[in-house]
Amino acid sequence: MRIKLLVAALAIALSSCSDDKPKNTQAQSEGEAGTVETMEKPVDINVSFENFKQKLIDDLWSLNPGYALYVGYYKFDDQLVIPDAAYRNKQLNFLKSALNSLLQFDEKQLNANNASDYFILKNMLEGGIWESNALNSYQWNPANYNVAGAFGLILNTDYKSLDERLRVISKRMDNIPAYYEAAKNNIGKPTIPHTELAIQQNKGAVSVFDTTLRSKVAQSGLSEDEKKSLEEKIVKSVEAINGYVSWLQDTLTRIEKEGAKDFRIGKELYEQKFKYDIYSGYSAEQLYHKAVSEKDRIHGEMITITQQLWPKYFEDAPFPKEPLVAVKALIDHIAVKHVKRDEFIDQIKHQIPELEKFVIEHNLLEMDPEKPLVVRETPEYQRGFAGASINAPGPYDAKANTYYNVTPLDHYTDEQAESYLREYNHWILQILNIHEAVPGHYTQLVHSNKSPSLIKSIFSNGAMVEGWAVYTERMMLEEGYGDNEPELWLMYYKWNLRVVMNSILDYSIQVLGMEKQEAMELMMEQAFQERAEAEGKWRRATLSQVQLTSYFTGYSEIYDFREELKKATGEQFDLADFHNQFLSYGSAPVPIIKQLMKDDYIKKHQ
Ligand code: ZN
Ligand code: ZN
Repeated sequence: MRIKLLVAALAIALSSCSDDKPKNTQAQSEGEAGTVETMEKPVDINVSFENFKQKLIDDLWSLNPGYALYVGYYKFDDQLVIPDAAYRNKQLNFLKSALNSLLQFDEKQLNANNASDYFILKNMLEGGIWESNALNSYQWNPANYNVAGAFGLILNTDYKSLDERLRVISKRMDNIPAYYEAAKNNIGKPTIPHTELAIQQNKGAVSVFDTTLRSKVAQSGLSEDEKKSLEEKIVKSVEAINGYVSWLQDTLTRIEKEGAKDFRIGKELYEQKFKYDIYSGYSAEQLYHKAVSEKDRIHGEMITITQQLWPKYFEDAPFPKEPLVAVKALIDHIAVKHVKRDEFIDQIKHQIPELEKFVIEHNLLEMDPEKPLVVRETPEYQRGFAGASINAPGPYDAKANTYYNVTPLDHYTDEQAESYLREYNHWILQILNIHEAVPGHYTQLVHSNKSPSLIKSIFSNGAMVEGWAVYTERMMLEEGYGDNEPELWLMYYKWNLRVVMNSILDYSIQVLGMEKQEAMELMMEQAFQERAEAEGKWRRATLSQVQLTSYFTGYSEIYDFREELKKATGEQFDLADFHNQFLSYGSAPVPIIKQLMKDDYIKKHQ
């Protein structure tokens, strides 16, 4: 359901390096701008900044060849970096030196696009330095180490002929044994859930080599010698991966006996990670309290709607004593209204133009008729699990189509399909389409592409992107989409409660030490989740920190900002202007957009 967020990969990506010392001479001379008045033609600071950004990105890719593949940058595709101490040092030096060069610029002299890039880069570089100095996940997260992803990507992406890609792979495989040796040296006392995850994922990695790669080699036009050499490397690589897996299994036995590192990172690290990863105007603690009171408000709304609808669906049956039990009963009762399994994709195709029409007729924001969204069945190779998601072109392939991928329910049993369709029932399906497509992720992307910034597409802010999509769900309903049908509002609240609960859970588990039993009860009784969903969320909350809060944080900040501007401009407030201007800054963190937009918007609407 989530748009693929590159920034999430950064933590891992930045664990890379090279001997390349960034020079950034332009940045340096700009920093001394005060003394260059006598120069014939002073260099425009924005031009210097553009050059600085380009240099920084070039360095980043040469230092992180694996990460580069994920954004469609293939220049260093044959390099597999060995994650040892020397490599971490070089990476840290790169970050420090780049930060130093960045700070030579006076951000007040930059135009809006560059100023926001400045703050994004500053946050990214400071966050990277913090990662290597304080978080140190290379020591306790064995799941950081897995070579399969990039190899799979090279095998499955037709950016070169198969034979060429196999030669790339052959070269990359040379470093696999050293890669896993370095991993074992790095890991001190890991956490139990990350060790279990690493075992599971690296076991899965084996098949990329001994099945997928072998069959591609057989289909290829490589010479017999090349094939033979690849086969030898496959054997060695599989040995290295299996060696890592069995080493992890021994480690797991040991830490289960002697004690493991707690997967909870605790208050101090959590606040800092929140600051760098989410980039919010709130502290993590403030956000947590905000989420708790929002949960209570939503419960109140849901109970009111349930009381109103109860006689319509249950006639004379008594209203349960516990109001949240009544809410759950009503949700389960009306969820039977859903499309047939073979009409799932058609229904989505049918809804998109209706959403577009509503946005245009109610003048909510600008739509671009030149860029229609293509709804399609998710291509086979991208089908991990059922669902719907926006497939946006990467930063190096911006002209490609944007697709709304919907996975058909073909492979489901009747029972599984029914459960899925009840979840994505008549009402929730509309909210999903608002979120993923119009005016959610897809519309945001169209706007964001009008002010192209490589920095913002590479380091797009997850809280802004997800926050926008979540914000539009509420905004559409408030503007009258669905004619204020109480059932739609009730389902919306259930859907929104998941986002609110994600924030509460993440903080409660990582900072306040909440245990599994309590977390499960919270999700099932107060957010109406099924056991399977709650189990999955518990697991995710033990493996990631902070990321689960991004949806609610971004949404809250956008909504609050809108209300603030409404208050400041009164009668002159214009919703479409607010949306269009808000989206014009690209996928930057909300606090940066606020800073760039607030005074300007108020001035224009007085
Ligand atoms: Zn989303
Ligand atoms: Zn049914």
